[in-house]
Amino acid sequence: MSDIGIYIHIPFCMKKCHYCDFVSYDNCHDKHEEYIDMLCKEILQYSEILSSHNISTIYFGGGTPSYIDSKYITKVLEVLKLFSSNIDNMEVTIEVNPSSANFDKLVDYKNSGVNRVSIGLQSTHDKVLKNIGRSHTYNDFKKTLEDCNKIGINNISVDLMYPLPGLNLNMFTDSLNSIIKLKDKYNIKHISVYNLEVHENTRLKFLLDEGYLTLCDEDTEYEMRNKLNSILEKNNFHKYEISNYAINGYESKHNINYWNQGMYLGFGVNASSFFNGTRYTNISDIDKYIYNIKNNISVISEKSELDKLSLMKEYVILRLRLMDGIKVVDFNKKFNANIFDIFNTELTSLKNDNLIIIDKERNNIYLSNRGEEVANIVWEKFV
Ligand code: SF4
Repeated sequence: MSDIGIYIHIPFCMKKCHYCDFVSYDNCHDKHEEYIDMLCKEILQYSEILSSHNISTIYFGGGTPSYIDSKYITKVLEVLKLFSSNIDNMEVTIEVNPSSANFDKLVDYKNSGVNRVSIGLQSTHDKVLKNIGRSHTYNDFKKTLEDCNKIGINNISVDLMYPLPGLNLNMFTDSLNSIIKLKDKYNIKHISVYNLEVHENTRLKFLLDEGYLTLCDEDTEYEMRNKLNSILEKNNFHKYEISNYAINGYESKHNINYWNQGMYLGFGVNASSFFNGTRYTNISDIDKYIYNIKNNISVISEKSELDKLSLMKEYVILRLRLMDGIKVVDFNKKFNANIFDIFNTELTSLKNDNLIIIDKERNNIYLSNRGEEVANIVWEKFV
């Protein structure tokens, strides 16, 4: 049986963060129960596929999965258990926000099979958290860590962001060092550090445009990136993907499946799936999602069947995100084609511009430091 990852989208949040452009809803308490019922029904609609594949990872993302009652997370896992007897032995992750992940919920998660908690911290500085509209403080984060520790959840991931309004180089370094100090006691095994993107129509865009908030200059951002790499590497968090660092053996299995172009099914509003060479995305309107599922109408809003060349291009982009890069042998085997024949022009040009390294000895291709900084230019060659 082939492996398949499962993504569950919980689109509810306590309040919208200033930078957020994800599909998430605040003030929607009345919809939680119905949404979860419909999401479970959507899972059951895929019974045939789920029964004939080996569920390898489960990931609850959002939104804020910890915002809703934990009984709903348990319910989704109970439905997934109909298709797998192995949930206790696979990576089961839930994203939590320190403002809503209380002790009792974390106990319920653990009892239902969750074994990896990903905490959205973003910064250890309350002033910065306030600037970006987060609903928690640094102390809330430490309380969540303490609770996970008491309960015995020993695979913790922490999300940080940079640059952020009000965050200078010293504060950023301080954030990293604070996490490092906590890592052993609280089993922090994984750190994701995302680059802030300022999206149109967000409150953050407005606050920056109107001069209420400012971001550091590019040189400082560059220094932040260097600090990030040096501090985390020095403390055994090896960088395995553009934005992700892990203690050896604790890389996110769920995300590695994405970057390997593995199959996954996403359930819930706006969730996407990749199955048998086709990408699917669900509708993003929650009311329509609930209505359609209830009435047995498809919730897929986009479907794109990738031909062989598109699959190869996509694979190159996905694998270049990983520090290991593309293993030439794997590419050639997967596509029954030689990567240097297919992408000779692109690879030669990127190599000449020092954006990628073609390592003849290790027989792989990966981004150079410069390539990482301007990754979008690299991706453009393959779209
Ligand atoms: S918690 Fe996440 S999904 Fe929710 S508003 Fe904030 S950034 Fe968006």
